[in-house]
Amino acid sequence: GKSQGQQQGQNQKRIGEAVTPRSQDFSKWYLDVIAHAELADYGPVRGTMVIRPYGYAIWEAIQRWLDARFKETGHSNMYFPQLIPYSFIEKEASHVEGFSPELALVTIGGGKELEERLVVRPTSETIVNHMFAQWVHSHRDLPILINQWANVHRWEMRTRPFVRTLEFLWQEGHTAHTTPEEAEAEALQMIKVYETFAIEEAAIPVVTGRKSKLETFAGAVHTYTIEAMMGDKRALQAGTSHNLGQNFARAFGTQFTDEKGDMEYVWQTSWGMSTRMVGGIIMTHGDDTGLMFPPRVAPIQVVIVPIWKSAPEKEMVLDIAGQVHDSLKAASVRVKLDASDQKTPGWKYNHWEMKGVPIRIEIGPRDVQKKAVVVARRDVPGKEGKTFGVSIEGLDEYVKDLLQQIQDSLLAKATAFRDSNIVDVTSYEELKAAISEGKWARGYWSGSDQDEALVKEQTGATIRCFPFDQPTAAGNCLMTGNSANEITIFAKSY
Ligand code: AMP
Repeated sequence: GKSQGQQQGQNQKRIGEAVTPRSQDFSKWYLDVIAHAELADYGPVRGTMVIRPYGYAIWEAIQRWLDARFKETGHSNMYFPQLIPYSFIEKEASHVEGFSPELALVTIGGGKELEERLVVRPTSETIVNHMFAQWVHSHRDLPILINQWANVHRWEMRTRPFVRTLEFLWQEGHTAHTTPEEAEAEALQMIKVYETFAIEEAAIPVVTGRKSKLETFAGAVHTYTIEAMMGDKRALQAGTSHNLGQNFARAFGTQFTDEKGDMEYVWQTSWGMSTRMVGGIIMTHGDDTGLMFPPRVAPIQVVIVPIWKSAPEKEMVLDIAGQVHDSLKAASVRVKLDASDQKTPGWKYNHWEMKGVPIRIEIGPRDVQKKAVVVARRDVPGKEGKTFGVSIEGLDEYVKDLLQQIQDSLLAKATAFRDSNIVDVTSYEELKAAISEGKWARGYWSGSDQDEALVKEQTGATIRCFPFDQPTAAGNCLMTGNSANEITIFAKSY
């Protein structure tokens, strides 16, 4: 009706004023949607956050999928203590060098100065190796394939909710093998698991590759990464897998006797994905109106908004809405019925759009008579995204198909956006131009660490990765003109 339409317009304005449009100020939009959609709140300590139920549900979707894949690939979950003796961190030289600026230390316990300071874990390679060294004796004890779901602390200077916090939640896989080939295969297998999660579940078309020496994890031989392009074109390192070689094994004496009876150090990997991924999902898919969740990770996939004016209409509409809800729920759809009479339907439309729910089902008295509903897509705004007269019979299948379509459509849209913002460059001038436009620059690279540092200093861009997907021919380094076997990607990052 007309009055409802007018009310909707007013509400739209009110909510529109609340969330800064993404196109206007990306950073402000990001903080606004996190606050308004009740994903997280700031903790009292700088850089910490409280993850609220709606945000935690996204982390749970990440956990559910990853945990199943880790188990399918032979890993078991376990748990290590959060406090690590300071001496452990010092054992691997480059590890301590990389992590010491970010360490949180416990110096007092029970009111007394501790004899040895304790590190609040920033990652667990050291304590894991301390234990592995006790568990591994012979090649028959290998491989060890474990994972832990935990919190870690890194004293970050620049922070942003989900993306970079002092304390974050993650999983860290740790494995030990008898051969370098096995460790390399494991590191590659796990970055592939992250890639699959990003593309198929989060609808984020990541670029997978190897980090440069400068960007490699402190203590690793190789770091593999998935790099995602956010809506403002900045890169996000969304997950990493490290081939640790024998670095930690040597530092901790993690040795085994091989089949010939010789002592050898184990070959190791570690790999992690964190609550940063939640930020990645938000910043890949959201729009001016707010969040837009890919159905497979959406806390709520379908919201039902019943519409009524009179009491008899209310009873009739709620009865059908309840049936639709129960049926979708039984079909394993994450569905919510918003039956509150405190808010108008128009307010609810705006609210659940801002919260990023992929599908809205509207049910009014006239729909009930026709045994039909209206289905609206979050990813296609306005009338164009609405289908009228969708029969209640067969609605579950209709909704499931549409969820898949939306999932595919979000991935296609993000892929097109990414591809239109990667520029192939053949010179430093072209690289600088691409970076100053906020884009990613891709080109042949065989420059030195100093060259790479210079690019960072002059443009703010870093090597995100040497993509696995490489051209067949060699080329000339964009910086030095020398022959180069690989292309790399430079970008500004979070
Ligand atoms: P790393 O052990 O440094 O390779 O970290 C594993 C993953 O955790 C990285 O690839 C990031 O995606 C994520 N991560 C690193 N630091 C933070 C942080 N301060 N807050 C949230 N996520 C982080």
